[in-house]
Amino acid sequence: MAEPDAPAVRRLLSSAFLPPLLLWALFCAALGGGVALHLHHASGAATEGIYERAEAAAAVAEHTLLRAFEAVQSVHDLLQLRQNLLEADEAPGAHAIQAHIANLVGNDRFGIIQAGVVDRRGVGVWGTASGIAALSLADREHFRAHMAEGATAGLFVSQPLLGRTTNRWGIQTSRPVRDLWGRVVGVGVVSLDPVALSRGLGRGLNGTAQATIVRRLADGAMLARSSGIEARLGEPGVPDHPAVAAARRAPTGRLAHRATGDGREIIGVYRVPEGLPLVASAAFTLAEERAAFRRAAAATAVAALALMALALQIALSSARGRRLRQLLQTEAERDPLTGLLNRRALRARAERLFAKSTASGRPVALLLLDLDHFKSINDTHGHAAGDAVLRGVAEVLVREIRRDDLACRWGGEEMLAVLRDCDLRRAEALAAALRAAIKEACPGDIPELRVTASIGVAAFPEHGAGLDELTKRADAALYAAKRSGRDRVVCALAA
Ligand code: GH3
Ligand code: MG
Ligand code: MG
Repeated sequence: MAEPDAPAVRRLLSSAFLPPLLLWALFCAALGGGVALHLHHASGAATEGIYERAEAAAAVAEHTLLRAFEAVQSVHDLLQLRQNLLEADEAPGAHAIQAHIANLVGNDRFGIIQAGVVDRRGVGVWGTASGIAALSLADREHFRAHMAEGATAGLFVSQPLLGRTTNRWGIQTSRPVRDLWGRVVGVGVVSLDPVALSRGLGRGLNGTAQATIVRRLADGAMLARSSGIEARLGEPGVPDHPAVAAARRAPTGRLAHRATGDGREIIGVYRVPEGLPLVASAAFTLAEERAAFRRAAAATAVAALALMALALQIALSSARGRRLRQLLQTEAERDPLTGLLNRRALRARAERLFAKSTASGRPVALLLLDLDHFKSINDTHGHAAGDAVLRGVAEVLVREIRRDDLACRWGGEEMLAVLRDCDLRRAEALAAALRAAIKEACPGDIPELRVTASIGVAAFPEHGAGLDELTKRADAALYAAKRSGRDRVVCALAA
């Protein structure tokens, strides 16, 4: 197996792009994880969420029904009061009540279309619609409900019916009218507009996949619907409609079933308003609710991706900034020809290094290297070849010392190495190895050219402390090396 390319790995690790990209990856992982967790949780809770919204819609429907029927009940109470006044021979009082009822009905405030009284034979005796007195209503559902065997004592609500005189859809809500001894003497009828009733049901609903529906408990006939009721008025009832069947068993609950018409899966909630023979149900189409959830989830995912892309842009531009700063710093610290530290940068770093060593008493060594007869290399092979030789020697130097040692182009063809935690003996050995390596290396790739170097060695604590003192001593040693024939290592004299 191939070894990983160590310099490439090192380059990546020290790259200006790594920290911002790592941060970005962390951000993406956190955001992605958060979104995934949220969606996972939300998809688990999605059905529960549908039920909760259906519960809210059913509560609105129940409230609407109760309010409408409060008005209906009060008109019924007025009809009974009118009857009592008539029986007590209080005709003026009965007239005042009639006028009041007519006023309530006339302005359509509660969706009440008309009100009237039918006697025991089914003949209209009084009503807000003109001509009612001439009508026989004995065949009407609501009349029979109160007058037949086992009659309804309380409120009866009819199926929607097209009014003969008004030509408007109405729901008859009827109650027996009694004499002063409690005997049924007729039927009070208050007609309610199913379209007006429907209008109040749709609040809080979202789109066509959601509806609230009011049905009779007796036979499942539809009385009102949050939308599109006109088209369905007069449809036959569905006695075993799941909402009706469930509501007969319990006044409130949740239910899931398939729609009778198109087989769609419906889930929802039903409520039976207290005292009314009706059920209000909120019916939500499951597939469309799920699709809405999926759309919302997709929008969340897209938003998260957009955020990640934006974060990537920010990370990249921050990385470019970092790289630029790194380049500028390198340019400010490095010698452009050899890539070694320049004098100024070396001085700053060496001072820190010497301060630490002096404090800890650990040794530091210094090698001052000067190429031998470099001028003649320039003269013979040209300045460019000289440059190449300098670059080659710098490479050898960097290779021979450790990573955290310092290498500097001290000037012209002189190079300086500061070796941390390195005593004189090791420094001398290293200098010898370096001298041999330079001689061996053929820097500058000129076959017939032999490059040699002289090296002066000085060390802390043997030869003093600090950069200036040690370079001075190493320089003297270097001078001695030159004088004694070059291509050699000379150690500074003991202080
Ligand atoms: P010695 O063995 O005594 O050190 O002899 P030398 O010729 O190496 O020393 P000298 O100081 O006489 O010459 C150094 C030469 O190095 C002179 C200068 O032109 C050359 N030099 C300095 N900097 C550069 C550089 O950046 N590129 C090249 N090609 N030559 C350089
Ligand atoms: Mg020189
Ligand atoms: Mg020289």
